[in-house]
Amino acid sequence: EYMGMSKERMMEIRRQNCNPMTMKITYYKKPLFIHQGYMQWLWDVDGRRYLDLFAGVATVSVGHCHPKVTAAIEQQLKRLWHTTNIYVYPPLHEYCEKLASYLPDPLKVIYLTNSGSEANDLAMLMARLHTGNYDILTLRGSYHGGSPQTMGLASNAAYKYPIANGLGCTNTMCPDVFRGPWGGRHCRDSPVQTIRECSCSQGHCMANEKYIGQLKETFATSVPNRIAAFFGEPIQGVGGAVQYPKNYLKEAYKLVRERGGLCIADEVQTGFGRTGSHFWGFQGHGVIPDIITMAKGIGNGFPLGAIVTTQEIAASFGKGVHFNTFGGNPVACAVASSVLDAIQEDGTQKNSLDVGTYLLTELAKLRDKYEIIGDVRGKGLQIGVEMVKDKVSREPLSQDAVNGIFEDIKDMGVLIGKGGICGQIFRIQPPMCITKEDADFFLAIFNKSLYNYMERR
Ligand code: PMP
Repeated sequence: EYMGMSKERMMEIRRQNCNPMTMKITYYKKPLFIHQGYMQWLWDVDGRRYLDLFAGVATVSVGHCHPKVTAAIEQQLKRLWHTTNIYVYPPLHEYCEKLASYLPDPLKVIYLTNSGSEANDLAMLMARLHTGNYDILTLRGSYHGGSPQTMGLASNAAYKYPIANGLGCTNTMCPDVFRGPWGGRHCRDSPVQTIRECSCSQGHCMANEKYIGQLKETFATSVPNRIAAFFGEPIQGVGGAVQYPKNYLKEAYKLVRERGGLCIADEVQTGFGRTGSHFWGFQGHGVIPDIITMAKGIGNGFPLGAIVTTQEIAASFGKGVHFNTFGGNPVACAVASSVLDAIQEDGTQKNSLDVGTYLLTELAKLRDKYEIIGDVRGKGLQIGVEMVKDKVSREPLSQDAVNGIFEDIKDMGVLIGKGGICGQIFRIQPPMCITKEDADFFLAIFNKSLYNYMERR
């Protein structure tokens, strides 16, 4: 029993009074009862400690209950919790100025929201108003939110309902160099390349040309050759850390702009230093979007989202009144501001790069050792490990097998995530404060879980 609440009682309440989806997603066969966190660690109600490599879905950026962030919340709680931004109060302005300093010109106008779905909804609306076009394109496997509008952007049946959601949203081929027909042996920006060969020659990426060809075909067939926006995650999150060939986004942005569309980077998972090499995922692709959306890591787990755009786009949007009661809440702004400070003081981005690169390199050795690891990919601490029946067929490993390994890893004390259209991709997106020792701990446990699976088979 914990705080007068037994595990049985919690499960009973969950069955009777909670969103039934949460039953489907207890995530583990034996559910986890979590009550405390500190940096990269979580403790369950029995006092058992877990190394958290999923961070509440890539959300805890600088660490659970990070002391600096906790202190900022405490201080602001004593001063002012809420008034809407019809009034002028310091935390909002301090934060907007600070966040703007992390963004390249001309991306300087910030709208604060409470979630990623809300941010993407707003971006969809803004793009349509600014361009006068309606159609929006996303890549297969993407996820951009659970609201009726953003549901249209998602390209994964698990997150779709059979209603008229997100009208005018079209999905196009994801240039996935592991799963796609054209491979891409040397094409992605990761310390670890895919095992899939391609027919690229020096200086010319054939795979990218093919995938871009597919995008052109979509413009010619599925939309009126004009669009309002193209949404892309710099590295897919829910899709399973899927990466595109190096020049894909650059060329896609050009084609989108030629057709009157805005380019929108969803940085909900890839922002705030997670990819290691850059503060924002789009910077790794050598592009500058017209709108950036962010959430999750922005508040280290405190509910907050944002979109950033240009003065020109903001002006088209400014013809009506856009109001959001909680967007820019002073406590949220104080939190977000301290998150940016913590990222600087802790060297979070550099740590993402160093530990992430180490982890990717070591995971590739496990890929070479086990037939059921098809692909290891990602950048910094946005990592995916795709499980397959075998490397030749690349058929997804069965959910039973994946879940068995997943549960085993948890029982040995490490929490990771799952993604991909068949739930076949392990996701490693930890609080960005993990150390090389934590990485070694996970690698040993992952190796053991794979060994156990082979023994069970
Ligand atoms: N975009 C991406 C890339 C996401 O991963 C998510 C959440 N998984 C969202 C948007 C939606 O964010 P929220 O759940 O805060 O609405």
